[in-house]
Order: sequence, then C-alpha cells, then structure tokens
Amino acid sequence: MICPLTADSLEGMRAEMFLAAASGAEMVEARLDFLPALPDENQLRDLLTEAPLPVIVTCRPKRQGGRFGDGEGSEKARLSLLRKASELESVAAVDVELDTPPEQRPRKKVILSHHDFEGCPDNLEELAEAIGRSDSAVNKVVFTARTCEEALRTFDLIRASAKPMLGLAMGEAGLISRILAKKFGAFGTFASLGSGRQSAPGQPTLADIKKLYRWDDIDADTAVFGVIGAPVAHSLSPAIHNAAFAATAQNAVYLPLRIEPGDENFRRFMDAALARPWLDLRGLSVTIPHKQNALAYVGAENCDELGVRIGAINTIRIDSTGRLRGWNTDYSGAIDALCDAMGIARVDLKGRSVAVLGAGGAGRAIVAALVHYGAKVVIYNRTLQKAEKLAEEFNSRAAPLSDAPTSEAEILINCTSIGMHPNVDDCPLETIPTGVIVVFDTVYNPLQTRLLRLAEAGGIATVTGLEMFLNQAIAQFEIWTSQKAPRDVMREVVMNKLISGE
Ligand code: NAP
Repeated sequence: MICPLTADSLEGMRAEMFLAAASGAEMVEARLDFLPALPDENQLRDLLTEAPLPVIVTCRPKRQGGRFGDGEGSEKARLSLLRKASELESVAAVDVELDTPPEQRPRKKVILSHHDFEGCPDNLEELAEAIGRSDSAVNKVVFTARTCEEALRTFDLIRASAKPMLGLAMGEAGLISRILAKKFGAFGTFASLGSGRQSAPGQPTLADIKKLYRWDDIDADTAVFGVIGAPVAHSLSPAIHNAAFAATAQNAVYLPLRIEPGDENFRRFMDAALARPWLDLRGLSVTIPHKQNALAYVGAENCDELGVRIGAINTIRIDSTGRLRGWNTDYSGAIDALCDAMGIARVDLKGRSVAVLGAGGAGRAIVAALVHYGAKVVIYNRTLQKAEKLAEEFNSRAAPLSDAPTSEAEILINCTSIGMHPNVDDCPLETIPTGVIVVFDTVYNPLQTRLLRLAEAGGIATVTGLEMFLNQAIAQFEIWTSQKAPRDVMREVVMNKLISGE
C-alpha cells in the first residue's frame, strides 16, 4: 500500500512520511509536483535521509494530471532530477510518464506510467502493451472510470501483465480497482493519509483501506460482495458487512458499487462482472434505484415468492457456477422486527389490524408481507391514489394520511420518510390513535424519532427502524455465507455510525 506525500513543503512531506509509516503504509510516493518549487538534488537527499519506508519519487507534469508546469526548461530540470533520484540508494523507484522520450528516462528503477484524468483511453490495451514492451521495472496505467464495469478493465490489464503492475481507476466508480488490486497481485494501491490529502480522485484513506476493507487480509481467494445503488457513498452496508466478515473470519470483502439509474446500466455491470468469473463476485445488496432491475435480471423463477409479488429484490447470491438467486430481505427484516417486539411468530399476525402510513417502496414491501401473513391492513398516504393502487394490489384498504389519527388499528407502522434526518422534528401524527399497542417507525436516522417518543410517552411499545435495517443485513449475510450472522457486532457498527453521524 503506497501513501502519497502531498504536503506543500519538504518539512511537511518528511512529517507525512513518518505518519504514513505509523499508519501502516508499506511505501510512500513523494509527489514533488505538490511542492511550490522543484527541490535540488541535495534537498531531495535530505528529504529521504533515513526514510522509514521505501520511497517512489514522482514529479507529475500538468499534461498527465499533475501540478508541475510544462515549460521546456522546467521539463528538462524535472527529468534531470528524476534521473538523479534514480541513482539514490534511498529511492526505491521513480515514476516517469510514457510520453517521456526513452533516452531522457532514468536507466533503472522506472515505473513507466500513463494517466488519463478525463476517462478511459480508447487504446487502453495498446498503451498497456507499449509500457509492457519497455524496460521499466513496473507498469502503471491509471484512468478515470465512468462506470464500475470500466473499472474492472484494470484487472484485465494486471492479469495480462508480465511485469509488476499498478492498474487503477480514478473516481467513485473506480474504488473497486483500488481495493481489489491486491487480489489480482498488483504492485500496490494508493491510499491517502486522510480526506483532502489524496493525490488522485477516489483514493481511499489508509484508515479505510486497512480497517474497513481489511487490505491485509485480501488475497487471491477473497470473495467479493457489494452494494449496488445510486447513491451508495454513504451506505452503512460496507461497514456492517465488512465487520461481520471480519468477526466470522470470512475471506471476503464488501464494496460500494455506484451504478447509475436505469435497467441497462444495471445489466451492463452484471454482465461485465459475471463475464469475469475470477472476480469471485458472490453476492450483492441492491438498493434504490435498482431493486426492480435486480428482479428482472435474476428472473422471477430464481427469486423468493414474496419478492416477486412485491416486484423488487434487495439481495443476490451468485454461486461458483455463476447461477444467480434473489431475495427480498426488506420485508422479512421488517416483519421479524415487529414480531420479535410483540413476542409473536409471523403466523400470529393473522387477523391483526395494522395501520401502515406511506405507500412508497418500504410501504409496499411491508404491506405485501403483512397481507401475506393474514393481517388486516389500512394504508394511509398523502397521495391517496397511490394508497388505493397498493390496496387493490394487496387486498387491503386505503385512506388519506389525514385520517390516520382515527385509525382503529392495534399496530401502527410509519413507512413515510416523515421525521427522517434532517427533519427530525416532523411527525406523521400529533397523537397516537387509541387502541394502538405497538408503534414501528421504519425511519432509522434518527434512532428515536418524534413518533417513537410520542408512543413511549403514552406507554406504548416501540420498534425502531434500526431493527428492520439490521434484520435485512443479517438475513443477507446468512444467505451468502450459510453461517449465523454476528448480530451484536453488526448492531454495534450501525449504532456507532448513527451516533457519530459519519
Ligand atoms: P419512497 O418510495 O420515496 O416513499 C416515501 C413515502 O413517504 C411516500 O408514501 C410519500 O407519500 C411519503 N412522504 C414523504 N414525504 C412526506 C410528507 N412530507 N408528508 C406526507 N407523506 C410524505 O420511500 P421509501 O423507500 O418507501 O422509504 C420511506 C422511508 O422508509 C424512508 O424514509 C426510510 O427511512 C424508511 N426505510 C427504512 C428501511 C429500514 O431498513 N429501516 C428500509 C427502507 C426504507 P406520497 O406518496 O404522497 O409522496
């Protein structure tokens, strides 16, 4: 793992070098182009004296996405310094761009590189081959991935390279290339000292790559999991599932995979991932806006019955032959959270009267499951037509949200987003209808919504959205691993994330 040094002074870079070593980096890259002026040979030697880690020296010109000016004189000075750097014992490697004339490159320790900050070059393979044919010690190709499937092409390059290779994709979609580099035997990956200190877009921090993504445990056999959605950057799922894998000693890693909306985008990613069986993609969580696309891709015949009725799945398992199966663990997570709090089994929901507030995606999954287990459901929604449509489909009744206070139900479930962060003072009801014995709020941020506080004040039992969220993640883990999930570990992760507001 290579940590770029991006301070704007030599003293700052030296301090970063020691911090990187203490933070678990295996190598550092002195990015001389981040300095206000090119250091001379002596200053460089001073910087590297008793360096705690092997050092790569780089001075990236602007034409390759760096900060160093492109003037002819400055280019001469830049290359001269890089040649001298390659002679220093304390320097492990020198990064030189492919567009540098061969006779001006250092003679040894060369990482020959090409960077594209705009996108993925049309001639990607040709570029990699040209670098491969050179007498460089290490090949490096870095481009900006517009999609996750484009980022997978870095693995094709690394696998085809006869020399050690750095193949990385920049941007949010490129994260998979950075985390799985080790699985494919790459020369390394880059990880920054902290956010705001990256040398390229999408670079993870050392803390995340080591603790969240367990870099040290990744090897050729690591199974790959992830969450597909847009947005996914703030999803809690990577933290929960990676902690669960760590606690149960699974050789597995879980990544956020941003796939833009649209069935064709979902299909393109899935086709590209499944065409690379060596990726060892074994399971996916699916979130908004792809739950319906996931069902269509996996096929109703391979999905759980209620998931098919709901029209959406959130879990895919891929076996070693590439066969896909799908489940909806949202509804089961919600129903089990409710039943656990009431001390009843799912079948005991039969005949119970339930008021469901909301007719969106969460409402749909919960109404379908409640009706499936025989509950009598009234759906209250701001847009009455949506409630009516849902009620017709799932054999229940519809009413305007304003009628909810007069509900005669014994169970009340909020499936609207009212009360969700940042509108934490909002509440779908001013009073809890008489006769209600349990209130379940699917909103989990904040944990204690105003609705739940209102119920508690009236001595009514409550169920938080956290239980539903946790249950759906636990069910996913058990589907993928056939092992009991470490519930307490997973709960702690969610609690910590929600409390810290990360
Ligand atoms: P969605 O499809 O967008 O539906 C939103 C629902 O909230 C609709 O019924 C909408 O009514 C209603 N709504 C939104 N703002 C409203 C307002 N100001 N006044 C009245 N009604 C309003 O969203 P979703 O996917 O169903 O998610 C809904 C909530 O469920 C989320 O906020 C989330 O916290 C929670 N959730 C929790 C979990 C979990 O694991 N705990 C999982 C999924 C969802 P209209 O139809 O009139 O627009």
